[in-house]
Amino acid sequence: MDLQVVEQVAELGAWISEGGVVILSGAGLSTDSGIPDYRGPSGSARRSTPMTYQAFTRDPIARRRYWARSHLGWRTIGEAFPNDGHRAVAALQGCGVVDGIITQNVDGLHQAAGASGVVELHGNLARIVCLDCGDLTARVALAARLDEANPAFDAAAVAINADGDAELDDTDLDRFTVVDCLSCGGMLKPDVVYFGETVPPERVSRSFALVGNARTLLVLGSSLTVMSGRRFVLRAVKEGIRVAIVNRGVTRGEPYAGLHIDAPLGIVLPHLAGEVAGEMSAPVRI
Ligand SMILES: [Zn+2]
Repeated sequence: MDLQVVEQVAELGAWISEGGVVILSGAGLSTDSGIPDYRGPSGSARRSTPMTYQAFTRDPIARRRYWARSHLGWRTIGEAFPNDGHRAVAALQGCGVVDGIITQNVDGLHQAAGASGVVELHGNLARIVCLDCGDLTARVALAARLDEANPAFDAAAVAINADGDAELDDTDLDRFTVVDCLSCGGMLKPDVVYFGETVPPERVSRSFALVGNARTLLVLGSSLTVMSGRRFVLRAVKEGIRVAIVNRGVTRGEPYAGLHIDAPLGIVLPHLAGEVAGEMSAPVRI
């Protein structure tokens, strides 16, 4: 870390040690776990347009292609492990200074690192929901059903993964067999919020309540491009709550942040957690 970052981390450590921290995390926190950040600095790699709820529910071909790609993508996300950044967040929570964690990520890695009470704004890819009966099931079970229903697709996908980043073409995708709800035969969907869909109001109000009671809103790894995250920063500013951002590169929250640390999260956050743990255990001077 260069000197400026060291000083910034010390300042942020002092803020956090006062407690009342609410964390808002985004994709940049999970890139070190091998999960691509479609909006951040390494996000230019997006090859297909994001699925919308309307296309998913109304267009059987789009749905089939989506499930084929999603089934491949699950191999990366389902096997991802939390990184030093996730562990540092869990450690800060363990120090008692964190009042809440709100995440835009759908990978479940905060919880895998030991954090609790996480508000998953956009849902979690490890869960599957039936759009007809509302049944919630585990993604691993669905992945096994999809593997079984698509033995030839699986072979093609393995061959492509081995030679790099090539994408399956549409004819491969169109051969993919989608499976339905085991309880009612209804349409299954990953339990995540799609473009064109709104975040469930209960999650939004819970998040606003956390932010409204915070002393510091700490944004980690989010460029705040989408309003679904940025609105919490705007609320904090309106309520006079200070905002700190740790993110690689420019963010749309910059004009509002009292502190912006532009450095790798995997380095900054463990230092920060160490700093706060040290401060918490230091003898009180009278
Ligand atoms: Zn069902």
